[in-house]
Amino acid sequence: MTAGLYNARARLSVLLLERLAPGGQVLTTDRVENYPGFPDGVSGFELMDRMKTQAERFGLKIQNEEVIRLELSEKRKAVFLNSGTLESKTIILACGATWKKLGIEGEDRLMGRGISFCATCDGPFYRDEEVAVIGGGDTAVEEAIFLTRFVKKIYLVHRRDKLRATKLLQERAMSEEKITLVWDTIPLRILGQNSVEAVEMRNVKTGDVQRKEVKGVFVFIGTIPNTDLVKGSVNLDENGFVLTDDKMQTSIPGVFAAGDIRSKLFRQISTAVGEGAAASYSAERYLESLH
Ligand code: NAP
Repeated sequence: MTAGLYNARARLSVLLLERLAPGGQVLTTDRVENYPGFPDGVSGFELMDRMKTQAERFGLKIQNEEVIRLELSEKRKAVFLNSGTLESKTIILACGATWKKLGIEGEDRLMGRGISFCATCDGPFYRDEEVAVIGGGDTAVEEAIFLTRFVKKIYLVHRRDKLRATKLLQERAMSEEKITLVWDTIPLRILGQNSVEAVEMRNVKTGDVQRKEVKGVFVFIGTIPNTDLVKGSVNLDENGFVLTDDKMQTSIPGVFAAGDIRSKLFRQISTAVGEGAAASYSAERYLESLH
C-alpha cells in the first residue's frame, strides 16, 4: 500500500494487484499499538482502510485479482491473470507471508473446526470455553491476551521456558488470570471427531504427555513467505524469503520486494511501510535509468 501510494503520488502508471482485500495479515490484528501516529492504538482494519483511502486519493488503482504466474527477467516482466496478461517495466513484490502450520495429526482434519490462525476472527466463537494457544512470539502472546475477552481459560503452550515476545506483552500475559503458561511443551496431536475436543502435548524436558480438554486451538508459530510465484526466478534465502539489497532490489534488475516476503530480521508494520517507500523510490529510479 505504501509503495502504491508513493508511486501513484509520483504520477507513475501503477496498478496494485490483490487477491482478497488490501491489508494482509494486519487485517486480522485486533489492535495495533506500536504504529506511530495513533496514541490510542488503531484496529488493524481501520489502519489498512485509511492507507487504502489515502493511496486511492492520489490515484492508485487497485485490482482484486489473483496473479497466476509471473515471468520475470531483466528484459520482460509479465503478470498472468485469469483475465489476461499485463506487462510492466518494473515490479514490486509485497506478497507478505502466511501462518505456519504445526504439521501434526488432526491439524488438517480439524482446520476451521476448532483450529484457527486468527483470534480476531474466531475468538467470539469460544465464549466461556477453554482454548490452547500455541507459540511464544509476539503474535501468540498478543492473540492470547485478546482471547481473554471471550474465553474462560487459555493454555499458552510454548516449546521453551522463555517467551520470545516483547517484554511488555510478556508482562501483560503473566498478569492475566485467564492465561496459564505451559512451558517446554509441544503439541503432539489434536483430537476430536467433528470439532476439537482436546490437545495432547509432550513436555520436551521430562517427556511427560498430558491431554487438555479444549474447544479451540489457536496456532501462532510464525509465518512462511508467499513466494510460490517467484520460486526459481529471484534469489531466496534458506528459509524461502526474498533476498534484496538495502534498496529493496532483488536479484533481477527492476524487480523489488518489500515487507514480510523479504529476508530480514524485523517484521513490523512500520518496517514494511519503510520498505514499501524505499522500493517505490528504487522503482522510480530504475524507470529513469531505462531512458
Ligand atoms: P515468531 O516471532 O517467529 O515466533 C514464533 C513462535 O512460535 C516462537 O516462540 C517459536 O518458538 C514458536 N514456534 C515456531 N515453530 C514452532 C513449532 N513447530 N512448534 C511449536 N512452537 C513453534 O512469529 P510471530 O510471533 O508470528 O511474529 C512474526 C513477526 O511479526 C515477528 O518479527 C514479530 O516481532 C512480529 N510481530 C510484531 C507484533 C507487534 O509488534 N505488536 C505483533 C505480531 C507480530 P521459539 O521462541 O522457541 O523459536
